[in-house]
Amino acid sequence: MIKPETLLHPTQAGLYCPAGDFYVDPIRPVERALITHGHSDHARPGHGKVLATRQTLDIMRIRCGAEFCGSEQAIDFGERLVLNGVGISFHPAGHVLGSAQVAVEKDGMRIVVSGDYKRSTDPTCAPFEPVACDVFITEATFGLPVFHHPDPTDEIARLLTSLGQFPQRSHLVGAYALGKAQRVISLLRRSGYDRPIYIHGALSKLCAYYESQGIDLGDLRPATDDEQDAQGFRGAVIVGPPSAFNDRWARRFADPLSVFASGWMMVRQRAKQRGVELPLVISDHCDWPELTATITELKPGQVWVTHGREEALVRWCELQGIAARPLHLVGYEDEGD
Ligand SMILES: [Zn+2]
Repeated sequence: MIKPETLLHPTQAGLYCPAGDFYVDPIRPVERALITHGHSDHARPGHGKVLATRQTLDIMRIRCGAEFCGSEQAIDFGERLVLNGVGISFHPAGHVLGSAQVAVEKDGMRIVVSGDYKRSTDPTCAPFEPVACDVFITEATFGLPVFHHPDPTDEIARLLTSLGQFPQRSHLVGAYALGKAQRVISLLRRSGYDRPIYIHGALSKLCAYYESQGIDLGDLRPATDDEQDAQGFRGAVIVGPPSAFNDRWARRFADPLSVFASGWMMVRQRAKQRGVELPLVISDHCDWPELTATITELKPGQVWVTHGREEALVRWCELQGIAARPLHLVGYEDEGD
């Protein structure tokens, strides 16, 4: 059997498959790239050929422009392609709309690159599908035993409670533009919140795209400067990318209450530093129980850990009798935590 390192190994540009002559989520422009999902740390513009799911290709075009690559090829979940003798298939990762794990296979050796993934329920994307493999490559963004993410529905209930308690205050919800923002809106709708939700301009195209893919986000309106004075936003929910809340845009809302939806909100210090009044622990990554349960379920021969808190997860695997190593990949800053 071929050695896994021969099939796929880390390089300066990212994970590389010499036999297939392609990279997975390269951080530098390359001739051929397989892209797991649309977050900017994984999906960079400037590659020659890009292979990804239809939704990821659409999202890349929305975010990077029509010229985001030389040529594109869409692959369906479960479809199998052969590139220079290497079998390739994409499987749902449950991270954001279109997100995929990439399975790479040659001479009986199968490696699964999971990209970013999560196991908790998310109505805005296809759920993670376990794929049996010899080597499982996992992220470890929240790879420490202290990280336990609560039920996102309970976190949204805390936002609804705050809206009831402070009906005069605008609730400014910071959420990453791809995935988190749509998930928060969808969770609000599923919890029965049917008033208009105001969105920052940076979210409008992605929200419209999610809607075009059958994800109902309800009555969304632009939170623009001119349409409404500050009084009009009293008691309203306004969703925007976290960066928008530091600039002039945010200062126009009436008595704003700062909310931030992120897995990092488990760390009180981070919420404090950002001046977040209502931290919501809603993550698009696995927490520690999800990471370890996934590895237990898959029983891979080896685990490679790409980014995040690599050491703790590597140690945990070794204690379970599973060979593991950190890949020390750089350039992945978990845009959508
Ligand atoms: Zn991501």
